[in-house]
Amino acid sequence: MTTAICQLFARTTLPPAVLMAGCFLFLSLFWAQERGASHAGVLNVLPEGAKSEDRRVTRIKTLKTDQDFRAPNSVGEWEERRQQLKTKILVSTGLLPFPEIGDLHVEVYEKKVHPDYTVEKVLLRTYPGYYATGNLYRPIQTGAEIKKYPGILCPHGHWGEGRLEDSDRASVPRRAISFAKQGYVCFAYDMVGYADNRELLPHNVGGKREELWGISSVGLQTLASLRSLDFLQSLEDVDPEKIGCTGASGGGTQTFLLCGIEDRVKVAAPVNMISSTMQGGCHCENGPGLRLDTNNMEIGAMMAPRPLMMVSASGDWTKKTPQKEFPAVRSVYWLYGVPQRVEEHQEDAGHNYNMASRNVVYDHFRRFFYPTRPPQDFVEDPDFVIDATGDLKVFSRRDKPSDVLEAEPLFASLRQRFEGQLWKTLNEDKEKFEETYGVSYRVTLAVSEPNPGDIKVKNKTEVQFAGYPVEKFLLTNPATGQVVPANLWLPDSTTGVQSSPTLLVHGQGKEALVGASETLSASLEHYLKAGSPVLSIDCLATGEFLKDASSTTRAKGVSLFETYNLTGTSSRVQDILLGETYLRKRFDDPATLVGIEGAGPWILFAHGLADGSRSTVADLSGFDFTDDQAFLSSLYIPNIRRYGDFVTSIVLGGERELKLSGISGDDMAKRLAKAVDSVQ
Ligand SMILES: [Zn+2]
Repeated sequence: MTTAICQLFARTTLPPAVLMAGCFLFLSLFWAQERGASHAGVLNVLPEGAKSEDRRVTRIKTLKTDQDFRAPNSVGEWEERRQQLKTKILVSTGLLPFPEIGDLHVEVYEKKVHPDYTVEKVLLRTYPGYYATGNLYRPIQTGAEIKKYPGILCPHGHWGEGRLEDSDRASVPRRAISFAKQGYVCFAYDMVGYADNRELLPHNVGGKREELWGISSVGLQTLASLRSLDFLQSLEDVDPEKIGCTGASGGGTQTFLLCGIEDRVKVAAPVNMISSTMQGGCHCENGPGLRLDTNNMEIGAMMAPRPLMMVSASGDWTKKTPQKEFPAVRSVYWLYGVPQRVEEHQEDAGHNYNMASRNVVYDHFRRFFYPTRPPQDFVEDPDFVIDATGDLKVFSRRDKPSDVLEAEPLFASLRQRFEGQLWKTLNEDKEKFEETYGVSYRVTLAVSEPNPGDIKVKNKTEVQFAGYPVEKFLLTNPATGQVVPANLWLPDSTTGVQSSPTLLVHGQGKEALVGASETLSASLEHYLKAGSPVLSIDCLATGEFLKDASSTTRAKGVSLFETYNLTGTSSRVQDILLGETYLRKRFDDPATLVGIEGAGPWILFAHGLADGSRSTVADLSGFDFTDDQAFLSSLYIPNIRRYGDFVTSIVLGGERELKLSGISGDDMAKRLAKAVDSVQ
């Protein structure tokens, strides 16, 4: 067959390497010379001057878009949704699969003893080369035997001094000392790039390249929360079954993200951050894809049925909490029959974690951890003196650990670590690979084959072009907001439909498949002459989408765009899955997916998700996708390299036939070949 294909389609030169999953090398570059030429717009679907009404262009979501809560109807429905959200948080933060970081590695030192509590400095290794930093506040042990106390995690928020902030608006030391005096072991740990951590990394970690690899401040902070939880539970004076967590603002975000993925947290108080109108303004609160279809109300509700206190403020974005966010979250607690376990309190103040708000939280924790003790024991003493900064900062009297890495070497070591984990998992445990990388790949692309019943055809007309009947229409899906211009080419009446349908995607859109004087590109003609109906589509920001300049500038000026919207690349994969599903429905026959002239990588991404397709043919156009720059310049999806990019897609595609050409360089060929080998 290899030879036959070459005879049919060979043009001039052979590609450097071509791979075919499931069987053999495929030697053809028949589309290499495709040239799109403008042709009078006769194949256009949108009327002259009209723009696509695709919601992905017309309705960009931001961190300040008003959000509604979709109340579940049953515990079962919610538990399923909760599991989806848990996966989403882990994937967004780069933590599925969990990185291989070894056993807990922690140093606790320089204990300072006060009459009613102690405070120590803590260095907690999260990744080799990087540390979480903080202070451990403990009650005084008085008896002969070590007494166990509940443990409280205290993330902070974007106060200027971070975990050392001590102002009327917020004080992390006063919160931690009060907890210790009340009978808790409390760990207050830095956000990335705050207080001591400023000496290790900046708060806004890395750039776009790091995002490809799942390296981000939200990822590092979530990992720090998880390791801090391990740390607390490992202490001899902590009851590992009694763990609480509270923080305000960005520390509130850290609190509900941790509670969403960890059942080990038993009581929580995320303060001033469960909002329907503002989801968090910093990178460290916005992982890629995190809020594509959810919001802080739903993430906060993941705490159910565990006790939750929602503290809000009249002077910030939580001012509607009593009327909106609280009833929304409580609707989930009602399903569990424990509406009393979620409570709210609104403080008449601006954005804060002030003493009044803290006292509300102390009382909340008391009711679950110390229900028989009097409430007056849990009110903050307004007069105590906190230690000098030098007594709290972890690096004030010692050097950084010798294995600490600067930012760039750290990122390089993480990239290497993640690449190693990918291949190790694929080589050793394919089932585990599909449960972790496979799931992460799907969640990261965040697109799937649509329900065939959702697809609607609009504005349908017919023309004849180069002797072939062509249906022109908009392929739409109200569920996703897609409005995709499409041409369906049918074999001429003498040939008739003789083979399965083909989705043929050109990187510049459908019009690039025809030339002047009603000529067809070689590939289009080939499939039609073989009797295959051919659907060509304009993927987002190609072809007729370009009538609206904003289709190419969707992300411009939108802060944290990828947390709330699909990237351009994901959107194009979504269009391919729409076309593929339409063809299967229309002809009751699985389609072959073909991508040429820049569309090959989109098609290869779709390969792993197009379970209902027949086969895939992708020209990778010589892009070297072992190079991060190639992903950054033409194929950007955050986290995609962390989760195996084309390798995972090929594995997910299984034994479905895959033909690849235009492969650049030995490294790329080897990487793809290893993936292909794994599905043989
Ligand atoms: Zn931040």
